[in-house]
Amino acid sequence: MRVAVINYDYCKPDKCNLECINFCPVNRSGGKAIELSDIVKGKPVIYEETCIGCGICVKKCPFEAISIVNLPDELEGEVIHRYKVNGFKLFGLPTPKNDAILGILGKNGIGKTTVLKILAGELIPNFGDPNAKLSKDEVLARFRGKEIYNYLSKVYNNNLKVIHKIQYVEYVSKFLKGSVAEILSKVDERGKLDEVKELLNMAGFWNRDSKVLSGGELQKLLVAASLLRDGDVYIFDEPSSYLDVKERMNMAKAIRELLKNKYVIIVDHDLIVMDYLTDLIHIIYGESAVYGRVSKAYSARVGINNFLKGYLPAENMRIRNDEIKFMLKELSDLDLSKDAKIKIEWSKITKNLGDFKLFVNEGNAKEGEIIGILGPNGIGKTTFARILVGELKPDEGKVLPDKLILSYKPQRIIPNYDGTVQQYLESVSKDVLSTSSWFFEEVVKRLRLHRLLESNVMDLSGGELQKLYIAATLAREADLYVLDEPSSYLDVEERYIVSKAIKRVTRERKAVTFVIDHDLSIHDYIADRVIVFKGVPEKAGFAMSPTTLKAGMNEFLKELDITFRRDADTGRPRVNKVGSYLDRLQKEKGEYYSM
Ligand code: ADP
Ligand code: ADP
Ligand code: SF4
Ligand code: SF4
Repeated sequence: MRVAVINYDYCKPDKCNLECINFCPVNRSGGKAIELSDIVKGKPVIYEETCIGCGICVKKCPFEAISIVNLPDELEGEVIHRYKVNGFKLFGLPTPKNDAILGILGKNGIGKTTVLKILAGELIPNFGDPNAKLSKDEVLARFRGKEIYNYLSKVYNNNLKVIHKIQYVEYVSKFLKGSVAEILSKVDERGKLDEVKELLNMAGFWNRDSKVLSGGELQKLLVAASLLRDGDVYIFDEPSSYLDVKERMNMAKAIRELLKNKYVIIVDHDLIVMDYLTDLIHIIYGESAVYGRVSKAYSARVGINNFLKGYLPAENMRIRNDEIKFMLKELSDLDLSKDAKIKIEWSKITKNLGDFKLFVNEGNAKEGEIIGILGPNGIGKTTFARILVGELKPDEGKVLPDKLILSYKPQRIIPNYDGTVQQYLESVSKDVLSTSSWFFEEVVKRLRLHRLLESNVMDLSGGELQKLYIAATLAREADLYVLDEPSSYLDVEERYIVSKAIKRVTRERKAVTFVIDHDLSIHDYIADRVIVFKGVPEKAGFAMSPTTLKAGMNEFLKELDITFRRDADTGRPRVNKVGSYLDRLQKEKGEYYSM
């Protein structure tokens, strides 16, 4: 069986010589596998029945608009949905259960949201025929005898009420009116307002207007609204974005405690959260924007390990060529000895800003060094960076040298540029798009931004926008790069690609990069040293001196009272259940982050 996908955003018949059609061997021998069609406004369509899957059109198209994959014939019966002719194809569906929290793991563009929409009853599947307008009864008839039948028939007959928290919280903010308390009081169908407020730690912004919330506060508001509504099926699409580590654990705990014996389905890229929160995991594998296939259910631990290893034993399927590894690194590969050249140096610093007080211990950063910043939201991380580059004057203390150039990516990413990706990148730096530069190869291409150059910045998805803003921040020549939450909306693989790009740019330019991120595996992967921020958010922050990853993680987790062990199989960090044997043992030994 063949899946032929044409990305019609990239296909430009007026700028090519119709190579896809002219070189097709089926066409050349008198058949018809590909032709211009009115179905898609004078662009080509590929007939999967006659196409022999040779891939010549894929190679000949100058805009990389075509993808062809050959799949085993038995998959034919598993097709669930196709949005349009020569569009993305979804195979298989997970079956939700009311006694297990279901997790869905997979890269971006692989069909996770499509699955959620089908399970929510928001999207009626067409079984691969984009022109079929099937009724719900027809859909159920197709699923008769399958595991999913009972679940979907209850959803379609309104015997199950579905609550769905969507992925991009920014999208919702413009529809919100009133304070957090007002909004949540209105949706509290279960009489659990106080409990949710407490579990998600929302007192600090309870009376704040919804228009001025930070990313994390907005996320909590939406998770809270879902928990308060009286439903049977609860769907959470990326609930951990913008939350700090403690808040992620609170969120996971709240979902576990408040949604017992409900159908709960979670999509998230934070493996630590998925590990802690879900019981069963389905992996969706395939090719982004081309096809996605839902795997069998695995127990959470095994599913995550299989995902990292890139191999699914139950289906005997390799889903990635290489394994995603967690390096158990005690030491960085950068020279951090006394003789290594110092790029930035600071004394003890204090700064008062309104009601907030910041205290910083002395420290330095070496040329080419990446420093991971660990701490909750509102603890002074941004303020510290602004002091380092001279944007804010400290009340006491000093920074050397006193003039540094900063390149900064803020936390919330909002599309606010009227123009194309290419124009945006060129406005930041003239030569980033020169195809001979290493930046183009290592950053732009690896982040797959070269395929989006003609897209409007306003039309990008959250993940695409995040990658664009990271690339633009790294494109500027600077002494200090500060990346605030580069991981939100990126999938696990993209996080590693971004991490590598950060490392390359920092080392190459002998600059210093501060990475603020709540995904601890990012720090595990790239930080040479870390700075831990402690204190009381919005009141007082204490920045410690830079320290090794091991000592810093330990300090940070001690503050949170959370212990991590290492998975024996893959080395990935896993949260210990509070009070478990390992939790107690590690706390006794003061080993909060086991290496
Ligand atoms: P994920 O949630 O895993 O990022 P989605 O389920 O949102 O992926 O989308 C899977 C693919 O389906 C995407 O690559 C996109 O190209 C395609 N797609 C999604 N929505 C539509 C739509 N409304 N029309 C056409 N194609 C779509
Ligand atoms: P983080 O980056 O750790 O989230 P910030 O450094 O942005 O934290 O902020 C720390 C605290 O300082 C917050 O409570 C914030 O409201 C406060 N703050 C930041 N800038 C100012 C300012 N210009 N005036 C008054 N308070 C501020
Ligand atoms: Fe031209 Fe490529 Fe579109 Fe074919 S697929 S018409 S070669 S741009
Ligand atoms: Fe023609 Fe080969 Fe392309 Fe199919 S894959 S449309 S047979 S060139």
